[in-house]
Amino acid sequence: MLDFLGDLRRTHHCGILRPSDAGTKAVLMGWVNRRRDLGNLVFIDLRDRTGVTQVVLNRELNATAHEKADLLRNEFVIAVIGKVKLRDADTVNKNIPTGEVELVAEDIRILNESKLPPFLPSDTALTNEETRLKYRYIDLRRDVMQFNIETRHHVAKAIRDYLSAQGFFEIETPFMTRSTPEGARDYLVPSRVQPGAFYALPQSPQLFKQILMISGFDRYFQIVRCFRDEDLRADRQPEFTQIDLEMSFPQAERVWEVVEGFLVAAFRAANYEIKTPFPRMDYDEAIRSFGIDKPDLRLPAFTDVRDCFTEGNLRELAINTNLPVIAIRTPKVGELSRKERDDIKPMFHSKGGAKTFEDFKRIANKFPDAAAAIARKSGAEEGDLTVLVAGSAQTGPQTAMPAHRKVTPSELSIYASAGLLRLALAQKYADRHKCFQRGDFRFLWVTNFPMFEWDEGEKQWMAAHHPFTSPHEEDMKLLEAGVESVNDPQSPLSAVRALAYDVVLNGTELGSGSIRIHRQDIQRKIFRALGMTEEEAKSRFGFFLEALEYGTPPHGGIALGLDRIVMILAGAESLREVIPFPKTARAVDLMCDAPTPVSERQLRELGIAVRRPEPK
Ligand code: ASP
Repeated sequence: MLDFLGDLRRTHHCGILRPSDAGTKAVLMGWVNRRRDLGNLVFIDLRDRTGVTQVVLNRELNATAHEKADLLRNEFVIAVIGKVKLRDADTVNKNIPTGEVELVAEDIRILNESKLPPFLPSDTALTNEETRLKYRYIDLRRDVMQFNIETRHHVAKAIRDYLSAQGFFEIETPFMTRSTPEGARDYLVPSRVQPGAFYALPQSPQLFKQILMISGFDRYFQIVRCFRDEDLRADRQPEFTQIDLEMSFPQAERVWEVVEGFLVAAFRAANYEIKTPFPRMDYDEAIRSFGIDKPDLRLPAFTDVRDCFTEGNLRELAINTNLPVIAIRTPKVGELSRKERDDIKPMFHSKGGAKTFEDFKRIANKFPDAAAAIARKSGAEEGDLTVLVAGSAQTGPQTAMPAHRKVTPSELSIYASAGLLRLALAQKYADRHKCFQRGDFRFLWVTNFPMFEWDEGEKQWMAAHHPFTSPHEEDMKLLEAGVESVNDPQSPLSAVRALAYDVVLNGTELGSGSIRIHRQDIQRKIFRALGMTEEEAKSRFGFFLEALEYGTPPHGGIALGLDRIVMILAGAESLREVIPFPKTARAVDLMCDAPTPVSERQLRELGIAVRRPEPK
């Protein structure tokens, strides 16, 4: 089909012709992006992965080629032979890199026709997302999508190259395996050979990577797909990609160094320079200063201003004197109208007993000394918005809960309510404070998370990270004591910290990891603390517990979400924009229409009977 090219084997990409190519012969192949018919002259914008070049068909110069141009429609695939020519000064297109040249066609071949697509890659107004996902192959032809996928490639490659250079091996682990410990619902794969038995798709390669440490592969990584059947929030995907790694004999700091190293490489691949080492913050401090375990450092931390008030002031304001009084400062908001002030109340979601004072002026009128002290302490400047969050005087001591934790649950409800309001205000007034500029990357390590979380529904302790995370050495005594009272929300377990860490960027968790347990006796205690009997632990993780007994080196690691990193680097709005074939919020692939029912025969082979949902 391409024999007409004759000796001209050297084809060009559409986006790379430059003035220095003028006078040479070129062959371009690609898609018809646009066609403009001016009678004697027809212009075709020919597009491929690298860009667009203008092709000119001139009836006077080449009547046959010009005639063929009549047949061309959007998205036809064509080959053009022609001569590269400098454009006249007044027709130079400064918006595209090839804008100083054009290809004067001598011959044109239609390599394939195209139906009229439901939308065009060159459309400026985006069609609805369902149509984009159904016709993903057309959608992926769009410039932005090509850019996003290319960015993804460069970022993944930079990470691979960096880790390889650091002596890490990329090692594959199975997709058809058994339940892993991340705690989400599994996707199951039925076994035909053993009817009634199922594989689980891995929620992460957690246990395999730990076993690789036991096997002596002391630096492992993998850019790997993970599967979690969770109710999908807007920014989740049922299958997603992690940069997963594990090392033997590391301190947490060593893991952080490696992560910082590959993030520098990844960001550089997208033309951003970032600074390392990243700042570090204790979980407790994150809660006290930001009310959340993934602080967004682009805006000021909040301040406890309880001591700016007198006891009498607090009583008058019906504020609980035992709890923090938080001042949230949002910079450069300026004077608020009455209506804008009223809009703040609905943005506040009280986590039990917290209330807000959105009208700081009123406080200032009534308690000028307190207001002046608050402004000083919180560093407020002219035009900054100050909103207070405090405990309501009516809330007595809350449900009896751990006394061991540095931050008590009643304090936590104040901090958490303030934390959410701080973020909501930051979003709402982003145009005014201008702290959310593209390219401003504030990384942070959050460390020393609590090891356990009390599940009020199940009335038991759950692993805050996963059950293979090592407790803090200093808290072993608390663990010892805690396993004696595992059904008690007051148990010393509440104060056990984990050697776990999260890497956070601008208020989003990019990844989390931990130093692991490498001793069977401690692992056993953790299972006990989690309310698991020996039998249960054995039946779920027996193979792993056994492996731990054969000379396990101390080890630790982390996993970061690649999709999210690429999303940030590409400046995309959703994970779906950087995943070539993503699923919708209902976990459906609209292009290939998965999942679908399967035939009776397939089910029979698998020994499966499907119970159809009862009609409502
Ligand atoms: N497996 C963990 C996760 O996917 C990460 C880790 O601890 O390395 O969240």
